[in-house]
Amino acid sequence: MAVVRALDRPLIFLGAPGAGKGTQARLLAERLGVPQVSTGDMFRDHAARGTELGRQAKAVMERGELVSDDIVVGMVSERIRRADCAGGFILDGFPRTRVQAERLESLLAETGWPGALAVNLAVGYTDLLRRLTGRRTCAVCGEIYNIYNRPPKTEGRCDRDGGELKHRADDREEVIRERLNAYEQETRPLVEFYRQRGSLAEVPGEGNADELSARLLDVVRSAQAAGAGR
Ligand code: AMP
Repeated sequence: MAVVRALDRPLIFLGAPGAGKGTQARLLAERLGVPQVSTGDMFRDHAARGTELGRQAKAVMERGELVSDDIVVGMVSERIRRADCAGGFILDGFPRTRVQAERLESLLAETGWPGALAVNLAVGYTDLLRRLTGRRTCAVCGEIYNIYNRPPKTEGRCDRDGGELKHRADDREEVIRERLNAYEQETRPLVEFYRQRGSLAEVPGEGNADELSARLLDVVRSAQAAGAGR
C-alpha cells in the first residue's frame, strides 16, 4: 500500500543558532504529525546516556565547534530510514556544512525522496543573543522556553509536565561566539546552495513563536501546493 505522506519532501531548517529552528521545527512537526530530527538533540541524548559517541560529541559541543561530517551523516542516514520517517520528516540543525548538504542529496535519492525544501529563519544578531542566553529547555520533554519572550507559567518549571528547565551548557557567551562563528563560516553558505536549486524559502524569524509558526505553516503549505502543481 502506498504511504500517504504528510510532507511531499523533507524540510530543513537553516538559520543561525538561536534563530528558533528547534522551537519551530518542533511546533511544525507536531502540527504535521511527522518526526523532528534534531542532530543537536541526538548528540545531547548520547551525551546524557554516556555512549562513546556522546563522549566525543560532548567535548566538541562544549567548544562550540561542529562534530565531524562522517559522524553526523551516519547518524542521520540511520535515523531517516526508520519507519516513523516514511510520511516525511523535519531536519533541525542538519545539514550544517556543504559536505553534509551534498551527502544529504545522495541519501534522499537513495531513500526515494525528492530534494529537501530549506527554510531559512533570518534573525538579527541582538535577537539571536537574547534568544540564546534566555533559552531554557525542559529536562523531561524537551519543550523550549525563553525567560525574556516565552517564559513558563512557573519559573524554572515546564508548563506541560512540571519538569525542571535547564540552561544548555553551550548557551554561555564564550561558546555562543564560537557557534555563531561556525555558522558564518560553514552553514550560512548553504542558503545560496538551496537558493540555486530553487529550494529555498526565506522567512523572517522575528516576532513571537506562535506567530512565526503560523507564518511557517503557510510557507510550507504553499511550497507543497506549488510542488504538486509542477
Ligand atoms: P544544536 O542543538 O543544533 O544547536 O546543536 C548543538 C551542537 O551539536 C552544535 O554546536 C554542534 O557541536 C553539534 N551539531 C549538531 N548538529 C550538527 C551538524 N549537523 N554538524 C556538526 N555538528 C552538529
